[in-house]
Amino acid sequence: MASLLVVEDDERIGSLLESALRANGHDVTWQRTGGSALAAAGSSTYDLILLDLGLPDVDGVEVCRDLRAIAPAAVIVMLTARLDEMDVVVGLEAGADDYLTKPFGLTELLARIRAHLRRRSVTAPDAADPVVAGDLVVDVGARRCAVAGQEVMLRAKEFDLLARLVTSLGVALRRETLMADVWDENWYGSTKTLDVHIAALRRQLMAAAASTDPPARLPEITTLRGYGYRIEPVA
Ligand code: CA
Repeated sequence: MASLLVVEDDERIGSLLESALRANGHDVTWQRTGGSALAAAGSSTYDLILLDLGLPDVDGVEVCRDLRAIAPAAVIVMLTARLDEMDVVVGLEAGADDYLTKPFGLTELLARIRAHLRRRSVTAPDAADPVVAGDLVVDVGARRCAVAGQEVMLRAKEFDLLARLVTSLGVALRRETLMADVWDENWYGSTKTLDVHIAALRRQLMAAAASTDPPARLPEITTLRGYGYRIEPVA
């Protein structure tokens, strides 16, 4: 059973989500404002947070940023009525892992939640040896990433993405493959999600490398136009 936080001010959608998720065996807390959601996240641990971006008190993107800081390990799925792709990007940059555009089908939402929760639980402690590339060490089993011995705290999806890339060191990976493996096989939203996560990953690894003396040697994440990404082995 997973612990879910639903943040939704619309009574109809909120109660629909609450009952559907309970019927699926989840422990559900429903909050109607950004303020109460942050208070709830501060006092309990949630595996997954469904966050409506259009809240009455605080802007959803701001709530997302604060939730991310309070609950670094939770999967955050934004629910947005905003069709503008820029809003989606802003939300992803604020710390969301995934999003669904309203109106969404309940079946799709439940499938997406199932996929996210499944991914969280498949990390076997006896997974393969850590992958080493230059000064980067990624221990998939322990979900740890370190640059020159210093641990780098990555968000759930950033870690999954890095893990997927480094376990195929030097191999070109299609965007569709990365989306399917890291998000969901049925994912058909904007692939901006992938680009935003790659950018965040590059930024964090570079910041970690720059803080070591001498600067750490990291594998480069190469963008393959019209195809996908490849992480380069360090010579
Ligand atoms: Ca709303």
